[in-house]
Amino acid sequence: MAFVTRFAPSPTGYLHRGHAYAALTAYTAAQNAGGRFLLRIEDIDVTRSRPEYDAAILEDLTWLGLSWEEPVRRQSEHLGDYHAAIEALRARGLVYRCFKTRKEIDIGRAPHEPAVPYVGAPLPPDEEAERLDRGEAFAWRLSLAAAREALGGFETLTLIEEGAGPNGETGLIQARPETAGDIVLARKDVGVAYHLAVVHDDALQGVTHVIRGCDLFEAAHIQRLLQALLDLPTPTYRHHGLLVGPDGKRYAKRDKAQTLRELRASGVTATALREELGFS
Ligand code: GLU
Repeated sequence: MAFVTRFAPSPTGYLHRGHAYAALTAYTAAQNAGGRFLLRIEDIDVTRSRPEYDAAILEDLTWLGLSWEEPVRRQSEHLGDYHAAIEALRARGLVYRCFKTRKEIDIGRAPHEPAVPYVGAPLPPDEEAERLDRGEAFAWRLSLAAAREALGGFETLTLIEEGAGPNGETGLIQARPETAGDIVLARKDVGVAYHLAVVHDDALQGVTHVIRGCDLFEAAHIQRLLQALLDLPTPTYRHHGLLVGPDGKRYAKRDKAQTLRELRASGVTATALREELGFS
């Protein structure tokens, strides 16, 4: 069977050790399976993505010894695809305009309380028309209620996890898209949200195995729902553990000293880093 996987970073900062581990995990899996490895630049969030980070990703991964198929897909070049997918969902009554701000949604929530998943409904047509006339900003949200009705329930939404979620979830998993509430599929400032673009591109690029950090395990539940609604295939998932630093904390974009460029500048070789991460 064909094996296609990908590394899909967002160019919102320099790659660090954690990214190197994730990229090497996917790359090595493709090699071991005699499969294909793709690099996808997830730059739909124009408020946070920067071209210099995009260029640095290619440079850092090349330094690390990785190669990938060309051309690299850049999501910002395909916004029309994602809008068409949202439009298809809209035509079926699966998404609605939400004019609420995060602040309004969070009214009454104490700062220490976790954000409650938002579940709403479309506004009455005249009120919606009025707000649109006034030029008020809105987000497109996926209606869980409409999705449930369209699919006759969520029971058939299962996925295969070959790795593990953060709590050891593995094997055949029942997707729980309802825990996220009515997710935002598009915002005014960021035309498309991450989930829709990922699901669209994984299907378009024929990705058979989604190999990524287990911080994205919950995302798979939502993505599984979108696959069902858009009639797209479900890849096999392989979430891996996250690399942690000596302090027991996972690496993040703010750990400047751990970026691949800094490591390289301080004399660390790609071979040494690969070995340290368990890839020789
Ligand atoms: N672009 C996402 C990120 O950088 C990862 C997407 C994915 O692997 O599904 O967190």
